[in-house]
Amino acid sequence: MNKDGCEESCPICLGIKKCDVLFVKKIIYGDAEESEDGWKKYFVLQCRGCQEIFYMTEEWVPYMYDIGENYTNKKYFPPIPKVQQIVENKYLRKESCKPIRSLYIEIIKALNYGFSQLAIIGIRTLIDRIAMDIAVSGTDGSFSKNIRKLQEMNHISKSQLTTLETVLDAGNSVVHRNNAMKMRQVIYSFDIVQHLMQQLYVNVERVVEIKKSIPPRTSVKAK
Ligand SMILES: [Zn+2]
Repeated sequence: MNKDGCEESCPICLGIKKCDVLFVKKIIYGDAEESEDGWKKYFVLQCRGCQEIFYMTEEWVPYMYDIGENYTNKKYFPPIPKVQQIVENKYLRKESCKPIRSLYIEIIKALNYGFSQLAIIGIRTLIDRIAMDIAVSGTDGSFSKNIRKLQEMNHISKSQLTTLETVLDAGNSVVHRNNAMKMRQVIYSFDIVQHLMQQLYVNVERVVEIKKSIPPRTSVKAK
């Protein structure tokens, strides 16, 4: 046990945090007396921020000299997420947002576990659920009809509609045309939808707060 702890990336807080070392074991490759062949350390760590306990391995082998003097290869479990939730749950608290929130979280998990096809199929459905919540009452219409409604009601611009139609078509191509999209393109698609959510759910609430903070204009008295 190292009572001073260490600083590591916490997979839950998503930042460098002070951690307690609950367990550590070092294995030296090759000759047990030397570490010229490399080594591997196994850690069980506890984040002092969120208290989560997680697992990390750190490995060094000689070719890593070429990468950098102090370079080691670290792996975490749970893995450090690549994609983060930018729309906080509190902005999706309305009853009608429940199906949006649950799918949104599932897509983030799918992306962070590397399931690009499941993610893009989810993204396609997420866009439709957002359109249904904001602009379409009832369950009428196709996916493309529903997002056009968002534009007709001026919730989004014409150029945003074109962007969303492209994302929707990408999702359709995975469902109907066996297209296996690259992860990078799926993450771009998800960024587009997160920005749509930011605009439709977050900004509309925040602007009310900004508006309240503005003092009224004082009228200039005529001399
Ligand atoms: Zn943490």
